[in-house]
Amino acid sequence: MSKYLILLGAPGAGKGTQAEILFKEFGLAHISSGDLFRENISKQTPLGTLAKSYMDKGELVPDDVTIQMVMERITRPDCAKGVVFDGFPRTVTQAQALKAAFGKKRKKIDGVLLVAVRDELLVERLTARWICPLCGSVYNVLSNPPKTAGKCDKDEAALGQRDDDKPETVKRRLNVYHTQTAPLIDFYRAAKLLHQVDGEQKIENVQQAIVKIVKSLRPGVRRDRPQKPKRNRDNARSRTNRGRSTRSAKAKSSTGRNNRRA
Ligand code: AMP
Repeated sequence: MSKYLILLGAPGAGKGTQAEILFKEFGLAHISSGDLFRENISKQTPLGTLAKSYMDKGELVPDDVTIQMVMERITRPDCAKGVVFDGFPRTVTQAQALKAAFGKKRKKIDGVLLVAVRDELLVERLTARWICPLCGSVYNVLSNPPKTAGKCDKDEAALGQRDDDKPETVKRRLNVYHTQTAPLIDFYRAAKLLHQVDGEQKIENVQQAIVKIVKSLRPGVRRDRPQKPKRNRDNARSRTNRGRSTRSAKAKSSTGRNNRRA
């Protein structure tokens, strides 16, 4: 059954890894706004050029272009089976846009999984990624280091960091998370959708905790469907009378009397 989930958490909390697991376990389409921007950057589209100017500084891409890009993505057929959003929404404006778009489709978000990790650990994790500028191999100095420090195993090129993984940018990204994205915790808590998971555990344990929560969620039916307006008595009576007069007119007409009179 289709499920619509949001993975919430700071950069480096492991949302991408968990989204991949949810994709495999439940067949949910994985929508990562960061990946969509990176796709646009590699295809050198105008959106990519615009996004890169913000991403390199550790800032958020403006809401209007981000919302438009994600709204287009959710119309694709693979989203019918459910979606796990990773890195979107990142602002209250984006969350409201998503809610409105889902409302129009009579869908709802089933759950928001907050992957909680302390800032110190996030900085360590985010600055640990190094990339080979020649072949694109990705290393992690904590979990997957190169054989020789700072050099690619395949071509011995000096490894570099993505602009947004550099320590000063990482600090700015965390700042942006606390000021612009963290308010979503209260937003979704108030909507009774928030589930917190300890993101400092081993990946497998985070995964188990998330899968357990997802299995316990009731799937994608809107519970906030608007109620039919209650009929007020006078309106009800006049509507009944109108009904009667129409019915009696029809009845008369069917006897042929009206026709004869005419
Ligand atoms: P991520 O891969 O999710 O960490 O995203 C990398 C960068 O893409 C972020 O630091 C932002 O500059 C940009 N980005 C990704 N998702 C969003 C979003 N929902 N709103 C605005 N900017 C975003």
